[in-house]
Amino acid sequence: MPTTHLLEIRPSLPERLAWLGDLAGNLYYSWSRPVRDLFDAIDTTTWTDCEGNPVRFLQLVPQLRLEAAAEDPAFLAKFDSVVQAFDAYLSDTRPGALADAVGAGQTVAYFCAEFGFHESLPIYSGGLGILAGDHCKAASDLGLPLVGMGLLYRQGYFQQCIDADGNQHARFDDLDFDHLPIHPVSTDDGPLKVSVDLPGRAVWLQVWQARVGRVSVYLLDADQPENRPEDCEITHRLYGGGRRTRIEQEILLGVGGVRALRALDIEPDAWHLNEGHAAFAILERVGELTERGVPFATALNTVAAGTLFTTHTPVPAGHDVFPPELVDEYWQAQLPRLGIGREQLHALGHDPAHDGGNFNMTALALRGSRQHNGVSRLHGQVAARLSQGFWPEVPPDENPMTSVTNGVHVETFLSHDLTRLFDATRADWREHLHESGIARLVEQTAEDALWSMHLSAKAHLLDDIRARLTRQATRFGQSHVRLKRKCRIIEQPPEDILLIGFARRFATYKRADLLFADPERLARIIEDSPRPVVFVFAGKAHPADEPGQALLREVSRLANEPRFLGHVLLLEGYDMGLARRLVGGCDIWLNTPEHPLEASGTSGQKAGINGALNLSVADGWWAEGHSHGQGVANGWSIQPCTDCGERDREEASDLLDLLETEVIPLFDRRDGRGVPVEWVKWLRHAIETIMPRFNAARMVRDYAVNHYRTAIDAGSRLAADEHRLSGQLVGFRETLEHHWGTIEATLLGDPPDVLPSHERLVLEVDVRSPGIDPAHLRCEAVLTTGDGQRQVRVGERGEHSEEDDETARHRITLPKGLFGQVRYRLRVVPTHEALLHPYETGLMRWL
Ligand SMILES: *Cc1c(COP(=O)(O)O)cnc(C)c1O
Repeated sequence: MPTTHLLEIRPSLPERLAWLGDLAGNLYYSWSRPVRDLFDAIDTTTWTDCEGNPVRFLQLVPQLRLEAAAEDPAFLAKFDSVVQAFDAYLSDTRPGALADAVGAGQTVAYFCAEFGFHESLPIYSGGLGILAGDHCKAASDLGLPLVGMGLLYRQGYFQQCIDADGNQHARFDDLDFDHLPIHPVSTDDGPLKVSVDLPGRAVWLQVWQARVGRVSVYLLDADQPENRPEDCEITHRLYGGGRRTRIEQEILLGVGGVRALRALDIEPDAWHLNEGHAAFAILERVGELTERGVPFATALNTVAAGTLFTTHTPVPAGHDVFPPELVDEYWQAQLPRLGIGREQLHALGHDPAHDGGNFNMTALALRGSRQHNGVSRLHGQVAARLSQGFWPEVPPDENPMTSVTNGVHVETFLSHDLTRLFDATRADWREHLHESGIARLVEQTAEDALWSMHLSAKAHLLDDIRARLTRQATRFGQSHVRLKRKCRIIEQPPEDILLIGFARRFATYKRADLLFADPERLARIIEDSPRPVVFVFAGKAHPADEPGQALLREVSRLANEPRFLGHVLLLEGYDMGLARRLVGGCDIWLNTPEHPLEASGTSGQKAGINGALNLSVADGWWAEGHSHGQGVANGWSIQPCTDCGERDREEASDLLDLLETEVIPLFDRRDGRGVPVEWVKWLRHAIETIMPRFNAARMVRDYAVNHYRTAIDAGSRLAADEHRLSGQLVGFRETLEHHWGTIEATLLGDPPDVLPSHERLVLEVDVRSPGIDPAHLRCEAVLTTGDGQRQVRVGERGEHSEEDDETARHRITLPKGLFGQVRYRLRVVPTHEALLHPYETGLMRWL
């Protein structure tokens, strides 16, 4: 047999279009539609075949097409203006909007196991990755000096097909890195590589760079000729393999990530660990210091001071735990470098809420960071409760777990139609997203224009849904007749169809099937609705998640029942491209998680900025995002039924009530021209309440101002003078450990229980603290007024008496302006200049 060789002949870029290469090599295209439109304008067929990947496009587009474009004045005019905008964006040297928080010359490192920028770089699985991508994009927009660090997965996540019976088929195709918008980082000696020690061998990682506007994200790839074949596979699949693969991935990300930054000569001033996967970075950074002679505990204090940890889920499966033997196998050899014993290592990963000996990455991340946050207000509270064992004497609502509510990158997820409308209303709207005044942009937009914008976006989505259903049906050989019946409803005019979207990972706690808890009633509601109702579902289940796949099968089975055929549609291959379309065109965005497990949820924010009304369980971001105005709201909440026996049934029934009595009637009410005037008011209210608060620029600003600034200052303060403060903090904690139990605090005198309003109560407390310097103790009064308002009053320390220098007197003056019944409690807490949070020692003595 003769051998057949494959040769791909690639076009050469005409000189005049040289910038196309730059445009394709920067993920700026993922949020700049004008850039994507350029490629589309050169050759729609190739652009469609390449599924929106401009790098691949430039490899496959016919030479003639490029040459024709280079001669076409209309194209060149567009091209020049896009290039000019891109160049201006990249070379903007104005001080960044956050220069006060993170100045020039300072750097924030951002670690995450997945990044979702665009469907053409499929190294994300869901919300976490897309949030990380949005964070980098907003950092770029704001001129925040941030670098991302992640892994480059040879097979990415997976490609999803759903067959006629609703079975999910996961396809793992090797990505050709040459086709992706990434570049190898090169040195004089070839590609930059760093090595990480695993038991008995070193694993080499090649460093790749993704350009995300002005931000660089570095991605590590273990598939190298230097490595053993099984080590090459470590970075093949995102969230693939078992515990062993996972710990290896996390070592490569954490340890390799730090080494890659050093090799790149990047010295971060603040470190942001986005989820616990990257927590081994803490041990690597501590190791760098212990190698130079800094004691372990001191080094850990310094490292933690510069580190922020964001936790993303209360669901246990989202928190990695490793059996102790596995941790020993991978970390034993590092103990001498770290200067600690096995016990100390395992103590770092001990989760106080679980007595088992497993090593918990969230626990390591919490101990190796001094600032920690959840991703919505509600999740912050849930996370504070889940982690209360780390600060055992502190009430969860006062412990150091705070929150920064997620937001989405507006330009990435705003529909084409709404983007055009905003562009026409206010040219510089993009630069003001982190300001509250952006709501005025929507005020200035006419309601009629908003409705026709929405109809146009919905029409595009319906076309896309039809095309996808056709592709799916062709693939599994479904009859043409059946396909026609499936599409018969979405073929009606867009203004009549009530389009309800549900798309996210098919994890069981997200309860994709809640809508169908009472299928008879749902069928009746659909049947009785004066306008056609269509539900469109999409989402991937993790290949190892059987219950998640069963959910998919269930939705597919229902979608094929005659009563739901055409009213319930299931689309395969959920990715960012499909997400963008869905959130841009649906009328309603449905979310039915099991409260309080949805830490934030971001797809509802994406839909909301486009004017979709959220219909959601009051969980995650929606618990703070749902807003009512005068006769308008931005959606509906299903109140979680936390102590009902039949929780699913109750919540499902509330959902159907809302659909039947509120959603459908509001959509149906039209004026003489057929416009649902009230609905449009709600649509506008959705955009103007959600866009200013739940966008990624606001989120990144909150991180920068409230956390990065603190981490930068604290990291350098604790490291100064040979880690003097960090060392003092070690001593301070040891002292507390020995002597805290012996503290005695006494309230002096007998305070009155009635007080005239013009008088102020002064409380005096004597605190006796053998072994603890009285200067390191503070007395506080916690006041609760009748309306539940609470405040903490800090006492002033007086002189301690001559004969007893272990006792100090504290005076607390209650504030003016209190009325009615006031409750107060007194407590003593440790204090030290090196603490970032007043209660981070976890100690608190109530009187
Ligand atoms: C936004 C997004 C998610 C996250 O959706 P949630 O509502 O937070 O679950 C998942 N996948 C894709 C492709 C997305 O764009």
